[in-house]
Amino acid sequence: MLEMQKIKLAAPLQTDSIVDGPGIRAVIWTQGCGHHCKGCHNPETWNFEEGIDCSINDIKKQLDDLKNHDGITLSGGDPLFQPEACYEIAKHAKKLGYNVWCYTGFTFEQLMVMKHHNPYILKLLEQLDVLIDGRFILEQKSLNLKFKGSRNQRIIDVPASLKENKAIIIEKYSEEKVWKPKYYKEEFLYI
Ligand code: SF4
Repeated sequence: MLEMQKIKLAAPLQTDSIVDGPGIRAVIWTQGCGHHCKGCHNPETWNFEEGIDCSINDIKKQLDDLKNHDGITLSGGDPLFQPEACYEIAKHAKKLGYNVWCYTGFTFEQLMVMKHHNPYILKLLEQLDVLIDGRFILEQKSLNLKFKGSRNQRIIDVPASLKENKAIIIEKYSEEKVWKPKYYKEEFLYI
């Protein structure tokens, strides 16, 4: 079977993220998202006609050149709108020994239905270690969450979830922690 050749990206490969999963990560910023969440931090990634057409082989080569990285993260946009291309990239990253995280506006349960209409949804999920699922809900936004923007979103152990056929949440990332540096004073807020 011919491998998928292209992916639509919102930006070139980012190689220095420390906020899209643990450690130092490379991030694939996919273009296109149909969820249109109120308060989305990346609305310029919504339009499916915009973005950059990139060769998947070029991205694989860039992943080959990474050094001292802990993993890669698929983000966007919503990578689940390009499951075939993201599957090719995730599969390559796994071969290189990276852990793979992925953000999506769909819930795990919705993806379990969608996989019956597009086999690449499951193929992509099978390459993932972690899925952060669900739309961003502005009313549930918190700056004290780790690796996610709103309280409804879940950080899911994908291999365990596929085995159990239900979303298994990674508890260590569920905690909501108020972060205050030692020198923090309330009046700083009003400067
Ligand atoms: S799913 Fe993510 S990229 Fe898409 S609209 Fe919601 S917050 Fe924005």
